[in-house]
Amino acid sequence: MRYSGFRIIKEALTGNRGWQPAWRNPEPKPHYDFVIIGGGGHGLATAYYLAREFGKSRIAVLEKGWIGGGNVGRNTTIIRSNYLLDGNEPFYEFSLKLWEGLEQVFNYNAMVSQRGVLNLMHSDAQRDAYRRRGNAMHLNGADAQLLDAAQVREMVPFLNFDNARFPIKGGLLQRRGGTVRHDAVAWGYARGADARGVDIIQNCEVTGFRMTNGKVQGVETTRGYIGAKKIGCAVAGSSGALMAKADQRLPIESHVLQAFVSEGLKPTIKGVITFGAGHFYVSQSDKGGLVFGGDIDGYNSYAQRGNLPTVEDVCESGMALMPMIGRARLLRMWGGIMDMSMDGSPIIDKTDIEGLYFNGGWCYGGFKATPASGWCFAHLLATDTPHETATAYRFDRFRKGLMIDEKGVGAQPNLH
Ligand SMILES: Cc1cc2nc3c(=O)[nH]c(=O)nc-3n(C[C@H](O)[C@H](O)[C@H](O)COP(=O)(O)OP(=O)(O)OC[C@H]3O[C@@H](n4cnc5c(N)ncnc54)[C@H](O)[C@@H]3O)c2cc1C
Repeated sequence: MRYSGFRIIKEALTGNRGWQPAWRNPEPKPHYDFVIIGGGGHGLATAYYLAREFGKSRIAVLEKGWIGGGNVGRNTTIIRSNYLLDGNEPFYEFSLKLWEGLEQVFNYNAMVSQRGVLNLMHSDAQRDAYRRRGNAMHLNGADAQLLDAAQVREMVPFLNFDNARFPIKGGLLQRRGGTVRHDAVAWGYARGADARGVDIIQNCEVTGFRMTNGKVQGVETTRGYIGAKKIGCAVAGSSGALMAKADQRLPIESHVLQAFVSEGLKPTIKGVITFGAGHFYVSQSDKGGLVFGGDIDGYNSYAQRGNLPTVEDVCESGMALMPMIGRARLLRMWGGIMDMSMDGSPIIDKTDIEGLYFNGGWCYGGFKATPASGWCFAHLLATDTPHETATAYRFDRFRKGLMIDEKGVGAQPNLH
């Protein structure tokens, strides 16, 4: 069923009896050509592009819970491509371009809103760093604009300019960055994949791998054994736990990241703002809530909930940036499990086991990567070669010392 304005009018006039479920609820088949483990944004996008772009069929997505229950439905919805390093920037710019046409392509309203992402700077050194980053973005075809303090004040007058511990000296603006309704991304990809014959199997946890002679044969699941020629793992924060079942030890740790939503307020913040002297990012949802977050909790965990010291830390940064936030009441908060890699950059690669492929290490930046991650992982699964924008995302960069250390903080996951 195609969604359109005409369809809404027709259904309204005929008692809304024609709507169909957005995806089927099939029983698992005994064998598939491709099994994707993880029904988050990345897994669903992979299945969608495998079918749509690479003409593949006999595909299943296995999800232990429900579609959208993981990080894809827990993030702070920010998309951008303001990266510095060659290994990263072309990939994230590819992703941003895919976001720009996504809703038309998969015929689903994901509320892609290019309302701009503004990174604030608070020192001369930071200005130099942002100028360099903006130039790198330009060289890769992305948009970037360096603003001085007066231009920032004009855009966001409610920030603390006059009495601040860290005075605002300007900002790096990416106008094409913005926000996307996160769970709609999962639903849109799920619907699009299902329409192309992909079996989306929920409540189906992968509990083990069956292998012979170094080649994967299939997966053990809570709904029985499922055979597969190729298996792609895209389980984000559960990467370490899943890959351990295949005796694979990853350069990844799992940490909690929390998100916060305030009560609904009148329109205040047009775009996304990030604080450059602490870790704090904020935007306003279309319902009016301020959506914000900060650092990860700082210790390893598989719990999808965070703790109070980080709440205090995030709120302190918010107060330093825009004191009026202290008057807003907090409505909701939650946590998600981050797959933190050692250099802060992701992995999209084959494993040592024939037929077993891995996608993970997204840290807390994987939502913006969803379309490109799905496309590039599908490319790898379908052709056994990396997509041109994802050639750096290999396992062996850790062995060879070719880290993609975007933040320059070394092999410390808690700092990325
Ligand atoms: C609070 C928070 C804020 C964030 N903010 C941003 C942001 O603003 N911008 C941004 O770009 N990124 C952000 N991120 C990061 C982003 O959400 C993640 O990097 C990205 O969603 C991870 O990919 P995914 O969607 O596939 O993960 P998930 O949605 O977590 O999908 C993985 C799925 O695998 C399933 N699974 C796990 N184990 C198994 C198994 N054994 N068998 C079957 N299924 C299994 C899980 O149930 C889950 O549904 C944020 C994350 C959080 C938690």
